[in-house]
Amino acid sequence: MALIVQKYGGTSVANLERIRNVARRVAEAFEAGHQVVVVVSAMAGETDRLLQLAYEASSQPPEREIDVILATGEQVSSALLSIVLSSLGLKARSYLGHQVKILTDSAHTKARIKSVEVERIRADLNEGIIPVVAGFQGEDEQGDITTLGRGGSDTTAVALAAALKADLCEIYTDVEGVYTTDPNICEKARKLDRISYEEMLEMSSLGAKVLQIRSVEFAMKYRVPLHVRSSFSEEEGTRVCEEDERMERAVVSGVTYDRNQTRIEIARVPDRPGVAARLFDALTEANIVVDMIIQTSSQEAGYANMAFTVSRGDFSKALEVARRVAEELGAEEVLSEEEVAKVSIVGVGMKSHTGVASRMFSALAKEGINIKMISTSEIKISCIIDDKYTELAVRALHDAFSLEKEG
Ligand code: ASP
Ligand code: MG
Repeated sequence: MALIVQKYGGTSVANLERIRNVARRVAEAFEAGHQVVVVVSAMAGETDRLLQLAYEASSQPPEREIDVILATGEQVSSALLSIVLSSLGLKARSYLGHQVKILTDSAHTKARIKSVEVERIRADLNEGIIPVVAGFQGEDEQGDITTLGRGGSDTTAVALAAALKADLCEIYTDVEGVYTTDPNICEKARKLDRISYEEMLEMSSLGAKVLQIRSVEFAMKYRVPLHVRSSFSEEEGTRVCEEDERMERAVVSGVTYDRNQTRIEIARVPDRPGVAARLFDALTEANIVVDMIIQTSSQEAGYANMAFTVSRGDFSKALEVARRVAEELGAEEVLSEEEVAKVSIVGVGMKSHTGVASRMFSALAKEGINIKMISTSEIKISCIIDDKYTELAVRALHDAFSLEKEG
């Protein structure tokens, strides 16, 4: 007998027919003798619909109220699934975030989980009851409803699995698992059987959308084994787990891209201490999250160039700040590009192989794609390129590292 947390995403509970399909899967696991805790997302499209309503009501709805509205999505799906499970003769009980309880900080719309209580859930499990927990929501110290950011139900599931010391956390979605790259733009994309926590974390941060980044952080920290799979098929999905020798053999495990990038460059700023600090202080003050940063200085000239990337939503604000700081510091000019993308390769095999970067750069060069910025870490290399070459770059990199073949 195992303790399994099963999380079902929005498309898996999109309508009653699909909720019945989910109930059947839950029942199967339960009847096989496992203890099952279910976490659900809102029905597909519901969170977007609720958000839109809030923004129709006002262009600046208070975030506290946005959370109250958004949390209703998961409230409905958790109750519906419990009803259907009960109609199958199973004992099930829905829970909202505050009932569990999932305690978060007060950062509305992007709250972080601080602790999870599992007494009620444990008591249910001991009585043969299936708890169905509303994903994506919690409550803060004052008892106000919070939500965990888009895709947050994944994090609810993994946090519960960690708190319950579950044997497995299954993430049911509408794709077969984690792919070497986005199958929508590269038809050779292949489903991975296994991927390490470290790689999954990089892939999520670099643009892969299967799992919310925080859920992977949780899984990695508490070593929760994840199985990402489809609720529409019986196929094995992708296991997210500890690194093993099999993974080492593949140099690169995946190619990701992020089109939500823009680039700003301050050209020829005087090269002296405090210049970078001045710029990035100003960006922080304006609440702008900076992704990549590159500074180059040539000693002879006494000037430096500073380039950084921010998301498209922050572009105009960041440009304003950069212009202001550039003037203050006596820089020559500010250049910007609104349509750039970041393509990345990820793989634990990079730790033990050489020549990975040059293979990446050659593959892009062969397609005539200019690299505007490069950044590396132990298990990833990212390049900023012109957005219009994103798909071409992804396919070229997928080929260059033979990702269509089993590792
Ligand atoms: N319903 C929320 C969203 O659409 C949370 C989730 O599905 O994970 O982002
Ligand atoms: Mg999701």
